[in-house]
Amino acid sequence: MTQREHRTVRAVPREPLPSSVYHFAIAVIAALLCLQSVVYHSEVHRNEIGIGLVLTIAIAVTLLASTRSTPRLARSSRFGLSLDAVWVFAAVLLLPFPLMLFAIMVARWVAGVVTAATAGASYRRSRLISYVSITGISGWVASVVHLAVNHLPRPGLRADSLEVVAVLAAAVTFAVLSNALTSIGYALYRSEHLRIKETATGFLVEVALLCHGGLIAWAWTVSPAMFLLGLPSLVLVQRALLHDLLERRANRDAKTGLAAHDWWKERAAHEIGQNRTGRQVGVLVLDMDHFKWVNDTHGHLDGDRVLREAAAVLEQLVRSGDLVGRFGGEEFVVLLPDIRLPQLLQVAERLRKGVERHVVPLPRGSVRLTVSVGGAVHPRDGDSVDALLARADENLYRAKRAGRNQVVIDT
Ligand code: GH3
Ligand code: MG
Ligand code: MG
Repeated sequence: MTQREHRTVRAVPREPLPSSVYHFAIAVIAALLCLQSVVYHSEVHRNEIGIGLVLTIAIAVTLLASTRSTPRLARSSRFGLSLDAVWVFAAVLLLPFPLMLFAIMVARWVAGVVTAATAGASYRRSRLISYVSITGISGWVASVVHLAVNHLPRPGLRADSLEVVAVLAAAVTFAVLSNALTSIGYALYRSEHLRIKETATGFLVEVALLCHGGLIAWAWTVSPAMFLLGLPSLVLVQRALLHDLLERRANRDAKTGLAAHDWWKERAAHEIGQNRTGRQVGVLVLDMDHFKWVNDTHGHLDGDRVLREAAAVLEQLVRSGDLVGRFGGEEFVVLLPDIRLPQLLQVAERLRKGVERHVVPLPRGSVRLTVSVGGAVHPRDGDSVDALLARADENLYRAKRAGRNQVVIDT
């Protein structure tokens, strides 16, 4: 049966705020914090200059070494900290704020100059300013938290158990703030709804990375030579990050960022396997209508952009426990664990309308596409993922035959 209903959809596109305003604002805050620190703590100890110098070199070398490896680990991920955060956090714990800011700025700048430029000069400059500002603000707050807990008058580490709490509190503060500030900037830049996609494990890895920086900082306070003992374990940290990155890549479709085919099926099989009496699992299959026309009229690259935006619309309109995947071409699948038929119809209709309303501005004129949707529910329509997909696919083709831009789910 064909189901069409009219219901207000959450607005998907939002007025884009110029991200330069945001970057300017965080740069001003970082500069003000720096000025305040210079005024109130003007004296810098000689050993701090030494630490600053070594950490600057360590950050720059880490960045250079890992941008040369494949995949590039040091390129700051969307909302993640990169490997050099180990040294940055050691600098947060050991150095007065202006020196810490100076060290990360010089290191990033040197690494940027040495690495072959893949982006324009103004883009690289704005990235450097936003990175240093975000890291500076997060580092300043983390340092305040650290000193408030360990009760030291200036940056440094105590040799007692209170220090463990202080470093952990500072690490969590640093990770939360830098993720939040980066994702706000990203959301403004892409004019998307703010969504922190970092998983709990990803966050745990980041805090572990920072704790490693804490250990290195502590080793330094025992004896600067002890610092060298921290280097081999950095290789382990690098391996851990690589594993995390590769796993995320394997699970995600490169073009749209949605769940990849195999991972989606794995998750769907898991949900169905766990399904208990009385609970239903919904599956939707969506195929863009007349998508070939976009490629023929606007070219494949703009076709890809339309595909990415359609994927983003779908992701924004499902519940947080649902999983949107790309099944190939311009076909998407949505897994909706624990849903009843009327709600499944509502979600499908919401997705259809969301895509219909979304305008994609392209160089050769704006494009508005539609999507046809077929659905199935476990256990009624089948007891395996393949059986459910086959039923949803049948319904999708009924929607296509009935004129496209509609939802078909047996009721
Ligand atoms: P309809 O589904 O409404 O019957 O018409 P359609 O034009 O969408 O037909 P169909 O689903 O058979 O064709 C899908 C087209 O999508 C063909 C292919 O060129 C294009 N396509 C598939 N994958 C991609 C992709 O990754 N990028 C781009 N730009 N186009 C793709
Ligand atoms: Mg199609
Ligand atoms: Mg198709």
